[in-house]
Amino acid sequence: MTQNLKHREALRNANRIVVKAGTKVLVQSSGRPDKRRLGLLVDELAQFQNRGGEVAFVSSGAVGAGLDALGMKTRPKAMTDLQMAAAVGQIRLMSVYDELFGSNKCRIGQVLLTHDALRNRERHLNARNTLLNLITRRIVPIINENDAISTEEIQFGDNDVLAALVAILIDADALVLLSTTDGLREPAGNGNTKRVSYIEEVDDNILGLIDDKQDRLSSGGMASKLESAQIAAHNGIPVVIANGRKTGVLTRIFEGNDEGTLLFPQAGNISKRKRWIAFFNRAEGHLVVDDGAVAALGAGKSLLPVGIKAVEGAFKVGAMVDIQSAAGEHIARGLVEYESEEIETLMGQKTAGKSGEVIHRDNMVIL
Ligand code: GLU
Repeated sequence: MTQNLKHREALRNANRIVVKAGTKVLVQSSGRPDKRRLGLLVDELAQFQNRGGEVAFVSSGAVGAGLDALGMKTRPKAMTDLQMAAAVGQIRLMSVYDELFGSNKCRIGQVLLTHDALRNRERHLNARNTLLNLITRRIVPIINENDAISTEEIQFGDNDVLAALVAILIDADALVLLSTTDGLREPAGNGNTKRVSYIEEVDDNILGLIDDKQDRLSSGGMASKLESAQIAAHNGIPVVIANGRKTGVLTRIFEGNDEGTLLFPQAGNISKRKRWIAFFNRAEGHLVVDDGAVAALGAGKSLLPVGIKAVEGAFKVGAMVDIQSAAGEHIARGLVEYESEEIETLMGQKTAGKSGEVIHRDNMVIL
C-alpha cells in the first residue's frame, strides 16, 4: 500500500476535526454569504458531529459579508475600513450559521480569537478550555480572527494560520483547509496541471508550485495554506487542502477517499510548552550563530554566548527570538535569558555570568 493510501485510510478514524473554509468558499462574488453553499457545508459538519465526532469550524467571510452589507464594491485599502466591514459582516455570517446549524439540530458558539491572545500563555489556555468545553458538550465552535481589533488574518491569510493554531490548541486528529481549488496543482505538460494528491514535506519544490493571484474579496492563497499545513503537520496533525465548493467533499475525505492534497506529518513529538514556543509566538529579534553553535544546538545543547556572531532587534529577557546560521538558515527559536544589549556585550565570550546560557535547551525548539 502506498503511503498516501495508508494515510488516507487513517483519516477514517479521525474523531476530532478542525475545518476551515475561506472567504471564496462561503460568499458570492459580491461578498454576500452563499446560503446554498453554506447549507451544504453545514449539513456535512452536522452529520460528522451527529455520528459522534467533534467539530470546530473556522469560518472566514466576515470581511466579504460586511463589504456586501455596506455596499462596498471593491475591497478598501484602509485597515480601519476592513475592520469595520468585519464587524458588520461577522454578525450577518453568524445569523446564517445559527439558522443552518439549527435546522440540523446542532448548537453553535462564536469564538473570536486573535494571534496576540494565543501568544499569551494564560489566554491561550483559556481559549483551549473554552473550545474543549464547547466541543465536548456538542456545541460547534465557529471561530474567526477578531478582525475588528486585529490585523493579522486580514493582512496575511484569511484564517489559514489561525486554523492550524486552533487544531494544535485542541489536539485535533485532522485539519481540513477548504478553498476553491482542489488542492495544490503541478504542471502536467502542454500548459495543463494536475492535482498533487500527497506531500510529505513542504520543501522548495512544493513552494515553487504556488501560483497565487491577489483576490478582490479575500486575503489568503496557497502560500498561507501551505504555511498553515506545515505548522499543523509539525505538530503531528494531518492536513487536507481541498475544494470547499465540491458537494460532499468532507464526507469523502473522512471516508478515506483521494480528495485534495494531503500533507501527512513526520511524527514530531514535542511538548505542549515547546509547541507554544515554536508556533504561537512571533520572534522579537534574531541571533546569528556560527557553525559550531549550529552543531551544538543540533546535538541538544543550550545556546552559549561563544557561538553568537550577531544580535538583531531590541528585546528584553524572556523574549522569543529566532536563531539563524551564518548562511541565513532559520534553525531554531527560543526564549532568551538576557536582553539584547547584554547579549551584544557577551557574544563571542566563553562564559556569561549567571547561568552561562543565552537560551536554555528547555526553552528552545529546533526547526
Ligand atoms: N478573517 C477574515 C474574514 O473572516 C479574513 C478574510 C479577509 O481578509 O478578507 O473575513
